[in-house]
Amino acid sequence: MTEHTDLLLPGTLWDRIRERTDRALGTGALQPIPTECEVVLDEGIDFQVRIAPSLDQKIAEMRAQREKEAAGERFDPFARPEPDLYLGSLTPSHYALLNKFPVLEHHLLIVTWGYEDQQSLLTHPDFTAVDVVLSEIDGLVFYNAGPTAGASQPHKHLQLVPLPLSDGEGRLPVDALLEPERLPENPTRVARLPFPHAACRVDFRSQTSEQLEKVFYELRRELGIWYEDTPYNLLATRHWMMLVPRARERFEGLMINALGFAGGFLVRNRDDLEQLRRIGPMRVLRGVSE
Ligand code: AMP
Repeated sequence: MTEHTDLLLPGTLWDRIRERTDRALGTGALQPIPTECEVVLDEGIDFQVRIAPSLDQKIAEMRAQREKEAAGERFDPFARPEPDLYLGSLTPSHYALLNKFPVLEHHLLIVTWGYEDQQSLLTHPDFTAVDVVLSEIDGLVFYNAGPTAGASQPHKHLQLVPLPLSDGEGRLPVDALLEPERLPENPTRVARLPFPHAACRVDFRSQTSEQLEKVFYELRRELGIWYEDTPYNLLATRHWMMLVPRARERFEGLMINALGFAGGFLVRNRDDLEQLRRIGPMRVLRGVSE
């Protein structure tokens, strides 16, 4: 497992993911988080809410890790990826890794070989790696820029979950309001999405990574996101990109990452689910972004 020397061959990523998933389940390196899924309808979107009782334990572990880091013992799980979870280099600058604690099957991490901060802006090499992944897998790529945007790890990583995420008509719950085929090429605000955002149509098959980085720049410009440490979530499929600014990590105790804006929530227990129903998912999304 070395930088540059083990580039994944074109067309092999999906088979590699499936083969490594089976193996890593067998060795215990992969530890899926069991969940139950409920649908909560709000403002025209069937939000998928996954309830994960073991999330409390994971949050406690992450807190313990943050405390250790504060005490100067920094542990970076991406500095030396676990061999059973490692998939190979996507580009000279990025490698692919299975998420060790997936809620969704075949959840992939797109990680920089060298340490870069999760709060630094996405760069051309990041979009080159995203381009490679999206050309191999029809999925949702997302980025949680820093802890306020839902990131638990400070080493730069984008993520991908394969589509479709929902069984309904759209491939993602948010598709019902986003209507990807009707999006313009220039950044716009989708009137029916009631949280701050900018979105536009893209074509990962024909646009180069330079052009995709330019689209990211245009979305940032639309929202006035200029600085490294500004928290935001990026969501991208083969057909659209959306940027959401973040004001806080949680609202009324409910933690949100980029998947929330695609219509996917993760909660710790049924009390949280009821709280979410009471407040309404859209209000929670507004609460963390404005
Ligand atoms: P985020 O919480 O959005 O920053 O994403 C980081 C992801 O890394 C989490 O979903 C974790 O499940 C995952 N993770 C934590 N430790 C490891 C590890 N050692 N190997 C692979 N994935 C990990």
